[in-house]
Amino acid sequence: MTLTFIVDRAETDQRRRDAALRELSFGAAPTDHMITIEYHVDRGWHEARVRPYGPFEVVPTSRALHYGQGIFEGMKIFGTEEGGAVAFRPDLHAARFRRSAERMAMPPLPAELFIEALEMFASVDGDWLPSGRGTSLYMRPFMFGTEETLGFRPARQFRFCLFGTPAGSYYDESVGSLSVWVSHEHVRAAPGGTGAAKCVGNYGGSLLAHTRAVAEGCDQVLWLDAHDRAYVEELGGMNVFCVVVEDGETVLRTPPASDTILNGVTRRSVIELAGDLGLRVVEDRLAIADLHEMAQDGRLREMFACGTAAGVAAIGRIKDGEHDTRIGGERTPGAVTSALRERLLDVQHGRVASRMAWLRPLNAGRTR
Ligand SMILES: *Cc1c(COP(=O)(O)O)cnc(C)c1O
Repeated sequence: MTLTFIVDRAETDQRRRDAALRELSFGAAPTDHMITIEYHVDRGWHEARVRPYGPFEVVPTSRALHYGQGIFEGMKIFGTEEGGAVAFRPDLHAARFRRSAERMAMPPLPAELFIEALEMFASVDGDWLPSGRGTSLYMRPFMFGTEETLGFRPARQFRFCLFGTPAGSYYDESVGSLSVWVSHEHVRAAPGGTGAAKCVGNYGGSLLAHTRAVAEGCDQVLWLDAHDRAYVEELGGMNVFCVVVEDGETVLRTPPASDTILNGVTRRSVIELAGDLGLRVVEDRLAIADLHEMAQDGRLREMFACGTAAGVAAIGRIKDGEHDTRIGGERTPGAVTSALRERLLDVQHGRVASRMAWLRPLNAGRTR
């Protein structure tokens, strides 16, 4: 499926762009343009536009505002050494956007249209792509119900929108490692719920626990499963891995993706890249009690989180009631975390020949 995009060019403010590319603060400076595509049950996908970034009108009855029919994706465009621009695994993001839509009784956007929107965006705002390892253009595709009328049923009308913002390396080495706080009172996702979808409500429901984690002096919540409140699931927007020594062998352990754990594109990539580095990956449930025990007796060597925004980020501390566990000692990130982080960045910047299939070249018209 293809649509003809109506292009309404923004006036470009080069000073604003130069300042954004100097500062690279995450999410602070949207580029000049955004993409919108409309959907109506009777008309399907229509009215694809490239337009200046800015506010749009939302009716007060809009479904997204009342019943949470809203989903999003987070993905990145990287620069290559040759001066090109590449999207990292956009096919997987397009597929997950479709799965999230299906879970929320929303129309799945055809993958070709998702990719076309990305290409249109890159063609108008490619010169917002920063240069430098770990930097990127962070893309935020999202969709929400726009229909007027409040009746409780899925909306018949939706808007897809995509905007982007230049991003630096999210968790800089100088920031050190992440600290996580284990939530026992609240849960993020329950069996049969929406945990595997990137839907807006999951994040709204997580914010209270997040403020507790910050009050406890930690960066993020480490969520446990809803049923037993005993097994590690993930962070609010990142999957987790442990580097453990089992019978003299170093293995990577991560909880299996399920309907309560979001199957991250970075998670999948790390599992595949671990194979390149000769590491065995075990996808199995991980009890928080075992994690504390392994940290005590030294089997837990490293722990890290991974997601599009941060890449691979070391976890150096778990706070859980009376447990206040440090992981990895002074040397964070540890050797395995660093190796995976660097390998992923090499792939993302087009430096690993065997993984070029993960990248989609974009005609970004870069001027610098
Ligand atoms: C987005 C997200 C992730 C990470 O997914 P990536 O595709 O790697 O960016 C992990 N957990 C949750 C809850 C998320 O929303």
